[in-house]
Amino acid sequence: MDSLEELRHIDQTAIWHPYSAMSSDLPMYHVESAKGVRLKLSDGRELIDGMASWWSVIHGYNHPTINQALVEQLQKMAHVMFGGLTHTPAIKLTAELIAITPRSLEAVFYSDSGSVAVEVALKMAIQYWSAKGQPQRRRFISLQSAYHGDTFGAMSVCDPITGMHHLFKDMLAAQFFIDQPRTRFGTPCSGDELQPLKRLLRKHANQIAALIVEPIVQGAGGMWFYSADYLKQARALCDEYNVLLICDEIATGFGRTGKLFACEHAAISPDILCLGKALTGGYVSLAATLMTKEVCQTIDNNAPGMFMHGPTFMANPLACTVALSSIKLLLGSNWQENIQRLQRQLQQGLSPCRDFTHVADVRVLGGIGVVELTKSVDMKWIIPRFVAAGVWVRPFGKLVYVMPPYVMDDSDLSTLTKAIVTVLKSLPK
Ligand code: PMP
Repeated sequence: MDSLEELRHIDQTAIWHPYSAMSSDLPMYHVESAKGVRLKLSDGRELIDGMASWWSVIHGYNHPTINQALVEQLQKMAHVMFGGLTHTPAIKLTAELIAITPRSLEAVFYSDSGSVAVEVALKMAIQYWSAKGQPQRRRFISLQSAYHGDTFGAMSVCDPITGMHHLFKDMLAAQFFIDQPRTRFGTPCSGDELQPLKRLLRKHANQIAALIVEPIVQGAGGMWFYSADYLKQARALCDEYNVLLICDEIATGFGRTGKLFACEHAAISPDILCLGKALTGGYVSLAATLMTKEVCQTIDNNAPGMFMHGPTFMANPLACTVALSSIKLLLGSNWQENIQRLQRQLQQGLSPCRDFTHVADVRVLGGIGVVELTKSVDMKWIIPRFVAAGVWVRPFGKLVYVMPPYVMDDSDLSTLTKAIVTVLKSLPK
């Protein structure tokens, strides 16, 4: 069963890939190994990876320091249940996360994926209000174009159209949605933009558990960068109306936007924070939900006296070790300079796209570069062209975007942006 043909056959007939049809005729590339910023395909070709495996591989692949930490932990134990037992990797990681995240966050709940970290955050907010004697506060406010994950709770706070609410009608909790903030990042935002949120809170605060947002960058729902003022004023409104604020930094966490956490652009601190993706430098799946002492103690000190969630692989020691190693590597590097360099290069390299008639917008923030087209791309046409140009870029809808590993050097960045410009230039009208 070792021939590539046989493997390919199983892949084509028996494996689901993310958001795709099993019978899809889209090209599929077989990765044999990866090192630094390069993916090596089994046919020998190498691709410069513009996606960092969906925001997560910030240090590049196959990093010797993380590999070493992983091997050392593997020799001690790969896993142990977290019920009634604890271990040093989880304890050290917790101390580190509390130290580096916004100051009000003082406790951590570990889970295995970003979507579950969001589920945990939603459940926590509901349990918090129930513990406070307000069990009717069970609804959430979310933003249009939001994306928070694929499980039922997380889907309920995703944009109703792109989140395909109609497919799961009657199964998803009904939440409140407000307009997407339209003031761009870096621009002051007038109070008018907060009016929909204010009106909703004035009318329904007593039913609302929390406002959930992706701070500064709305990711999979549109790759949109919005004003830090919006976030600052939203935090103030949550305080005024006594509603919790959940920040989903699963995509933005660990430096991607130029700050360690995107909340820092608005100098705010959430009541609950979700982390994932780059938490382990893209090595293994681990997510964390952090909360304030107030949230934690209120749940603890009231019936049922415990938080009702507990995954089998909670705080997996290998994952915690890798996360700790990745955070140390990040904090010990000149990551701010690297992100500024990525920002400059992406701005410069992608700017020729502004002249193309089928390009609606080019925007860059930190290590994220986005070219928004006037209509959706044909994946079957575009992906092989990127591959032929030696780069891995996977657009969705109208968005061609990259978020390279922070360690990508100028020459590879230049190859990446030139490939995007060249391929988009030849896009059929
Ligand atoms: N929230 C945000 C902001 C995300 O970008 C994602 C993943 N794209 C998720 C939640 C869900 O994370 P996961 O895919 O690990 O479940």
